[in-house]
Amino acid sequence: MFGKDELNMCQKCNLWLEKVKQLKSLSSKDLFILKNPRRVTAVNYPVRMDNGSIRLVSAFRVQYNDAIGPTKGGIRMHESVDQEEVSELAFLMSLKTALMGLPYGGAKGGIKIDPTNLSEGELERVSRGYVKEMRNIFGPEKDIPAPDVNTDARVMAWMLDEYEQIVGHSAPGMITGKPIILGGSLGRDTSTARGAFFIINEMFGDIKGATVAIQGFGNAGGNLAKFLHQAGFRVVAVSDASGGIYNEKGLNIEAIVANKGTKSGFEKVVSEGSMITNEELLALDVDLLVPAALGGVITKENAGRVKAKKILEVANAPVMSDAEEILDKKGIEIIPDILANAGGVIVSYFEWAQNMQNFYWTEQEVDDRLREKMVSVYTAIKKVQQEEKISVRSASYVLAIARILQAEKLRGRL
Ligand code: NAD
Repeated sequence: MFGKDELNMCQKCNLWLEKVKQLKSLSSKDLFILKNPRRVTAVNYPVRMDNGSIRLVSAFRVQYNDAIGPTKGGIRMHESVDQEEVSELAFLMSLKTALMGLPYGGAKGGIKIDPTNLSEGELERVSRGYVKEMRNIFGPEKDIPAPDVNTDARVMAWMLDEYEQIVGHSAPGMITGKPIILGGSLGRDTSTARGAFFIINEMFGDIKGATVAIQGFGNAGGNLAKFLHQAGFRVVAVSDASGGIYNEKGLNIEAIVANKGTKSGFEKVVSEGSMITNEELLALDVDLLVPAALGGVITKENAGRVKAKKILEVANAPVMSDAEEILDKKGIEIIPDILANAGGVIVSYFEWAQNMQNFYWTEQEVDDRLREKMVSVYTAIKKVQQEEKISVRSASYVLAIARILQAEKLRGRL
């Protein structure tokens, strides 16, 4: 019965699951649970525009797996959002929370709109409208959203306010990534980069001076470049959507941040190195390549040109499944997204825990706990990888899936 009836909502999730199936025996019921989201909510809601017209906005929330606890995952706003993409990201969130040992399941939300074309008032109405639509499925002990692509602390504040108006009481644990004054956590801003930095320290030990190229100079990539530079790594290239800058001796990241401003492009700091394209950055001969911008940037077409010794996936799903086979053959180690960028959801968990206790931590406490979590999970995964002689991604998937299935079985659902 299972298999034939599969909804098959997420083709990319299935590709990764097929790989795990070759390593661990999974029953058809196990696969059904893992291949299909538990609940998908799709809505079309009206938003009043500034000129008085009404725009219908399509939006989704996929609560992929809730066996371990309330579901957790960001909300992105982008014109390309669709149910398939949100499902894949919700699947990855389920694996990520399970792998990191957080008391959560996984979810993701998407609003199909380009927010850069909206006024502040329109953006607020889009954000509040989404929460109105999802009011029955959100809640501190049901499903806890957070920021993702094109959403930020300001959007979280509107969403929290809308929710609290509906339920009629304070409920800061309903959403994370909030402004500090509304119950946000210290250290949340830099948490993804910080988490990635702790893993890189473990990977390279005392080999400071290791060379690193980073694609993406935003919240994750930009902060990571800063932490690595301060710690003595040689960040030889960084880029954004408009292209990148390269200096084989290492870039002065502080000078770049100070002189570049918030604008896209590195023209103002060209004296720090020479300009390169994003494709050239991906092919640099470095100790570590960090894709920290978009998904799907390393493909079977360009994987053959990658010369980095290791790759750390700070972006979600930057390495395509068929590209991974080429990189594996070249002996390039890949630290997967569900481990590499988990710092964000870990500090989101810390934020939620602080909200639930109404007791707040110092930035140092947040940083110490984040380091402890990242290092202990990385060490456990490396142990499985070495014992079973499998890739770091496979070891991460095997661990996460085992936990999800154990929770499903203990609940009597399998
Ligand atoms: P951001 O918007 O702050 O920065 C994105 C950066 O990528 C910018 O520098 C942008 O110019 C660059 N970029 C965009 N298109 C590009 C292209 N075609 N080529 C090269 N660079 C391009 O975003 P962020 O928060 O830093 O997130 C980056 C990635 O990390 C995303 O994939 C996101 O899903 C993932 N991630 C972020 C967090 C987080 O907490 N920030 C957590 C988990 C995963």
